[in-house]
Amino acid sequence: MLLEKILVVVSYFNLVMYSNHLYGWHDHFMPGLWMGSHWINEPEYTIQYPMERGKFGPLFRGEHALRRYPTGEERCIACKLCEVICPAYAITIETEPRPDGSRRTTKYDIDLTKCIYCGFCQEACPVDAIVESTNIAFAPGWREELFHDKKKLIANGEKWEPELARNLETVYKGRIHL
Ligand code: SF4
Ligand code: SF4
Repeated sequence: MLLEKILVVVSYFNLVMYSNHLYGWHDHFMPGLWMGSHWINEPEYTIQYPMERGKFGPLFRGEHALRRYPTGEERCIACKLCEVICPAYAITIETEPRPDGSRRTTKYDIDLTKCIYCGFCQEACPVDAIVESTNIAFAPGWREELFHDKKKLIANGEKWEPELARNLETVYKGRIHL
């Protein structure tokens, strides 16, 4: 293991020496040396999946969920932007006006056998209703289990709401600093 690490650091050193000819010494060599010296002393650790999970970034795109407001009201306003933007034609929505004039979906299906996890639906949604969670453990026994209907998506949202809200907040804060 130590030998492997030494070989990687030496290869990196060679690469940096070459790039130094092209770009300059301090920009590449010193940061590389600093990173390498830290990494070589780090203890190795193997994540015992599925009992343990690594860290997922706030923009990780896993299984979908439909969120509610804290009042319990559905966030989705049936604007169909997610359906239109989906490049895989994986989303099917049907809508109906309520007696109070507001519009809500009567059907919200995602066919995850078509989905390419691009995140466009989440990006397009004006009310943060459809989101992609960090759940990756949804490989089913049957193909039909990858057809998620509104009930399943809402149940996902209820189950993961604290994490979903936290991730969105992190993403928005990051964007403000851009
Ligand atoms: S992640 Fe992309 S492909 Fe999947 S449902 Fe959303 S928009 Fe469609
Ligand atoms: S999930 Fe968002 S983008 Fe899709 S229909 Fe509902 S409000 Fe519109």
